[in-house]
Amino acid sequence: DLVAVKRALLSVSDKTGLEGLGKALAGHGVELLSTGGTAKALRDAGLEVKDVAEVTGFPEMMDGRVKTLHPVVHGGLLALRDNDDHVAAMNEHNIGGIDLVVVNLYPFEATVAKGAAYDEVIENIDIGGPAMIRSAAKNHGFVNVVVDVEDYAAVIEEMSANDGATAYALRQRLAQTAYARTTAYDTAVSTWMAGQVDGTPRRRTFGGTLAQTLRYGENPHQSAAFYTDGSNRPGVATARQHQGKELSYNNINDTDAAFELVSEFAPDAGPACAIIKHANPCGVATGKTLTEAYTRAFDCDRTSAFGGIIALNQPLDGETAEAISGIFTEVVIAPGADADAIEVFSKKKNLRLLTTDGLADPTAAQLTARQVSGGWLVQDKDVGRITRDDLRVVTKRAPSEQELNDMLFAWTVAKHVKSNAIIYVKDGATVGVGAGQMSRVDSTRIAARKAQDMAEAMGLPAPLTQGSVVASDAFFPFADGLITAAKAGATALIQPGGSMRDDEVIAAADEAGLAMVFTGMRHFRH
Ligand code: 5GP
Repeated sequence: DLVAVKRALLSVSDKTGLEGLGKALAGHGVELLSTGGTAKALRDAGLEVKDVAEVTGFPEMMDGRVKTLHPVVHGGLLALRDNDDHVAAMNEHNIGGIDLVVVNLYPFEATVAKGAAYDEVIENIDIGGPAMIRSAAKNHGFVNVVVDVEDYAAVIEEMSANDGATAYALRQRLAQTAYARTTAYDTAVSTWMAGQVDGTPRRRTFGGTLAQTLRYGENPHQSAAFYTDGSNRPGVATARQHQGKELSYNNINDTDAAFELVSEFAPDAGPACAIIKHANPCGVATGKTLTEAYTRAFDCDRTSAFGGIIALNQPLDGETAEAISGIFTEVVIAPGADADAIEVFSKKKNLRLLTTDGLADPTAAQLTARQVSGGWLVQDKDVGRITRDDLRVVTKRAPSEQELNDMLFAWTVAKHVKSNAIIYVKDGATVGVGAGQMSRVDSTRIAARKAQDMAEAMGLPAPLTQGSVVASDAFFPFADGLITAAKAGATALIQPGGSMRDDEVIAAADEAGLAMVFTGMRHFRH
């Protein structure tokens, strides 16, 4: 199954490693064909190269849109070398075989990521490159196709070991990689276009590129990997890690949850902090300073915060880093960190510090996917937001200004808590979080119970739920949850409304003297 490489076509936008590869191929006596920029780079390195234009008999034209799209190229890639008819066609039309194609594509993803204008993005859709990759990959019985700079070494090594030839196993592996690349490339194009067309596209694809294989998945017996979608948004996928061990699957998941949540709070509205455990917040708070925001978030549930993941909406400073250092924390993510903070954390070897370029855009459209047996469930990310104008007061008592502010804060947090989600908030800080229960009344009880535990641990006369407001991610199906919240000291409630028993629930609120507003929007998160 060894096939000698005699003729190679190189056409690369990213010229990294090109010179070394060209020299190695020339060393094996391989004839080099190339397109404009690649040919120039190879010639500059002192190598002999034939222009594809010379082989096709056509100049590169239309701003490079048509360079290699020619039967003399594609025939040379697709011909089965052991098929008499194919060989006869090659001879008849003067088509020489091409045994190796090295192509990396126009940088479409990078062009989108840098915010280029429409026409520039369009011009960066590579046509001839993917066509050659697909032709060569289809004919991997005879042809080698290389799309990753990281694979140059493997090809050179294989050729050196086999006197200029490659084995089937390598060609097959390269072909698989090649189709993964063209799939990701076209997915990037269609995803970008989905954001350009009017209305909902009829077909959408989703996918990504392997960024990192992980040591294991949610548990050590599960293998796992991290795929990025090439969108380059601020977040865990693009953050810089300053110190600490490699992030695990759970770390990435929780760091994302923390960062997405804290990104709801615009930095110019003041500091905010979210502490996450197992993808749920165990404390979220605003504060006059970042340190205060952290401390108030920590005070919601100090027990759960141990080994947590912390996200901040402003660059980390030394004082806050010092406060965070008080207990064991897995990851801290922030839109920057000053020198003091980095110095403080350098003593905490196990803590991972990640910094981003700004916050995530909580309104940016994105798809979320989850695998079910036999397929995938795909939906738009929950970017639903409400303002005061969307709220409908349904009780006799209208909420106070303070209650309104806290209700909106609680509602924002609720969107990031697994259902059934119940959030108690006071003065811009969570004071009780009930997450992921199968009954809403249980979430209401658990959050109140934890607040009680915290009050005892901190030596407070009463739990912080006294005088708090409560958000519920979906309607209360019965009055029992609301009554539980009122007993825990809640004075106001925000929820979607829309239950069959809304009347009962409203009556119970009126009886307890609560103010209640309906949002008309639900934030299930399963
Ligand atoms: P060069 O820098 O050599 O001038 O161009 C290399 C780039 O051209 C590679 O990214 C390759 O995928 C792309 N390419 C090769 N042939 C064609 C073609 O026929 N049409 C288009 N649009 N791109 C091509």
